[in-house]
Amino acid sequence: MLEVSNLSVAYGGLRALTDVSLTVKEGQFVTVVGPNGAGKSTLFKTISGIVRPAGGTVRFMGKDLAALAPSERAHMGIAHVPEGRQVFKTLTVRENLEMGAYPKAGREAWHHTLDRIHTLFPILHERAGQLAGTLSGGEQQMVAIGRGLACAPRLLMLDEPSMGLAPAVAETIFERVSQIHREDGMTILLVEQRVAEALELSDHGYVLETGHMVLDGPYETLLKDDRVRRSYLGLTDEEPP
Ligand code: ATP
Repeated sequence: MLEVSNLSVAYGGLRALTDVSLTVKEGQFVTVVGPNGAGKSTLFKTISGIVRPAGGTVRFMGKDLAALAPSERAHMGIAHVPEGRQVFKTLTVRENLEMGAYPKAGREAWHHTLDRIHTLFPILHERAGQLAGTLSGGEQQMVAIGRGLACAPRLLMLDEPSMGLAPAVAETIFERVSQIHREDGMTILLVEQRVAEALELSDHGYVLETGHMVLDGPYETLLKDDRVRRSYLGLTDEEPP
């Protein structure tokens, strides 16, 4: 479904990504982990078209996206839920969700999708008329994910949805994301710093460090990797994950 090949991105003279490749198959749950500044958000921004690459290709549903603007990529079915939530604070919860439904598929599926969003996040139903800026961090993250779902996407990209949330709230968010994958069959590409929880949900994981993809594999393989265990899971060789 998504094929990123040899992608390189530079901000001025600074290389943020070098020769990065990644594949997401239809129905898969793929996670990218890595430390701060590794280039994870840059990778997402390049896939959704906000950042232009210096080299390499992004193909989606067999089509090269190079010439397509971010809005055209959204129409093709790519939803990008950005880091830091970025809800429209002065709009209501409902208006925020409606903003997500601008692609044709989103408009057509709107009533069904809204029901689904309310089933996943009942609080958004209760708070439909409340300004999004007055919600808690966790609730704003639910709005951001709901806005992504409102596009009726084929691929849902989530950039650190657990950022800044208390562990129990983050756990709820992970559970909902897993539910969207399991029950709706949504293809998911997730970036996370909470490595253990994220990898546990995934079919396949990638490790990005200083702009380079250094490792990838299925969950079980990554968990056995010494580098992943020491650097990301804080485990020694003997400890079980
Ligand atoms: P974090 O988890 O901290 O958000 P990240 O892995 O998402 O990190 P990016 O935000 O993609 O990393 O940043 C990768 C590198 O590119 C960093 O060195 C960062 O400082 C730099 N960078 C990101 N955005 C810009 C920009 N607009 N202009 C210049 N440099 C940038």
